[in-house]
Amino acid sequence: MNVVHKLEETTVDADVVISGAGPTGLLLGAELALAGLRVRILERQEARHGQSRALTLHPRSIEILELRGIADRFLAAGHTVPGWHFAGLSRKLDFSVLDTRHGYTLFLEQARTERLLEDRARELGVEISYGHEVVSLTQTGDGVDVVGVGPDGGFSLRAAYLVGCDGGRSMVRESAGIGFPGSDSTMSTMLGDFAVSDKEEIAAAGQVPVLIAPMTGGVTRFVVTSPGRMRIPPSEPVTFEEFREALVELTGTSFGIAEPQWLSRFGNATRLAETYRAGRVFLAGDAAHIHFPAGGQGLNTGLQDAMNLGWKLAAEIKGWAPPGLLDTYHAERFPMGELVADNTQAQALLLELTLVPDYRRPVIALRGLLESLLDLPEVNARLAGLVSALATSYPAPDDDPLVGTRMPDLPLGSSGTGVSKLVHSGLFGYVDFTGDGAAQVAEGWKDRIAVATGGDRAWAEDVGEVLVRPDGHIAWVRRENDLPDAASREAGLTAWAGTPDRTAVRR
Ligand SMILES: Cc1cc2nc3c(=O)[nH]c(=O)nc-3n(C[C@H](O)[C@H](O)[C@H](O)COP(=O)(O)OP(=O)(O)OC[C@H]3O[C@@H](n4cnc5c(N)ncnc54)[C@H](O)[C@@H]3O)c2cc1C
Repeated sequence: MNVVHKLEETTVDADVVISGAGPTGLLLGAELALAGLRVRILERQEARHGQSRALTLHPRSIEILELRGIADRFLAAGHTVPGWHFAGLSRKLDFSVLDTRHGYTLFLEQARTERLLEDRARELGVEISYGHEVVSLTQTGDGVDVVGVGPDGGFSLRAAYLVGCDGGRSMVRESAGIGFPGSDSTMSTMLGDFAVSDKEEIAAAGQVPVLIAPMTGGVTRFVVTSPGRMRIPPSEPVTFEEFREALVELTGTSFGIAEPQWLSRFGNATRLAETYRAGRVFLAGDAAHIHFPAGGQGLNTGLQDAMNLGWKLAAEIKGWAPPGLLDTYHAERFPMGELVADNTQAQALLLELTLVPDYRRPVIALRGLLESLLDLPEVNARLAGLVSALATSYPAPDDDPLVGTRMPDLPLGSSGTGVSKLVHSGLFGYVDFTGDGAAQVAEGWKDRIAVATGGDRAWAEDVGEVLVRPDGHIAWVRRENDLPDAASREAGLTAWAGTPDRTAVRR
């Protein structure tokens, strides 16, 4: 990038600098600040633009917000619908049958999600600097020097770690020399938000090959993939007239659209960062993965990246991380990125081929077949688990099969506390269902582990003790039939929560 500015003399010290105040960067900032770290988010834009690409938060996203006690804020700002689209099939996925207290998708525009996440980050003390663009980085043995351009010219600052949450064209990824292999767009889709539309005509439209979603403020979103326009590169601007014509071609009406608020063209380019970590530099969210927005998974996946990385980075900086903990971020989240890339490519192909004349009939037949398969509860559960991300599991092959799965939010003890409440403050949660181990745990790891005794074991009746990670996944389990053995408990807890009573701060 050809930016030449004189650097200011100021050096800002931060444990972690995050590039990008999108949803991923904001949640990550909040997670790090919750752990007591000094966090600075640098955002290129001078202010929020208020446009929303994503419209929904899926069940696992609501669950992770619940793990921090903030889901209610989001639920109060949106409304729930029982399921969401898959491959544009007319039969939607049904999330209500999934094993969760949040079996729905929350209709909440991205701009509002970001506003709520920013409030949370600021409450916890995160410093967010708008109008600050990161332009380069240099890693040294014990830190990262970040160079950027702000309202007053160039600046530089030094941090222990830098996380690129700066979207699909990530400067951090490029500067760190991390490859972004994948495929370019083969088709494009148009998006338009319009202030005025014929609501009666929309209500009467029935099955049309256009996604129509009412938004706040009387705005309605239309998403159109038009056979005659789908080979136009995503970088080419959309005009109002083009959008109107495409609607008329596909549906016979323009629905009275007027006053465009936002017109955009997006494609099905699919790429994954070859590594989510290069030394002291990490990638999360769209900086690590881009794909067609089928099923509404991008923002949701970024939130889970943030939730997975936050506590691990905090553990490393605070000095108690067990060896290799930071590398589990790539090991766990890269395969999840691959899953999303694969399922969105499959969905995009089904959409694309429907619009190619030679394939139209067989693909319509294939879609009909898939619709009928979705009537089978097992098929719905499998795909809904994938898209909702409730199926997310971080398996550890040699361990108990429960290890790596998400811990259900069941009541604990007699207090009515749930599992999620136990980890609200970002600690591990340890539940002793049999009353054999809690005292020892309370002594050894009380700065890192919140303890509860007794609770509902409906999800796994023979569990004696369980250690839940700060991101809600199970780290360690003892089955009731295995003897309570202090040495194996200590080994299990140390493997994730570090050595007991080691609280020295290392930077
Ligand atoms: C049409 C469309 C519909 C979508 N619908 C859904 C949906 O329904 N559900 C869903 O989950 N996802 C959806 N997505 C995807 C979702 O919008 C993205 O996955 C999400 O915004 C990614 O969040 P992020 O924080 O990782 O990146 P971004 O939201 O891209 O944020 C990156 C931030 O970094 C800033 N930045 C960039 N470069 C720099 C720099 N050098 N220095 C400082 N700051 C920088 C940018 O200004 C930006 O604010 C959709 C996407 C599209 C295109």
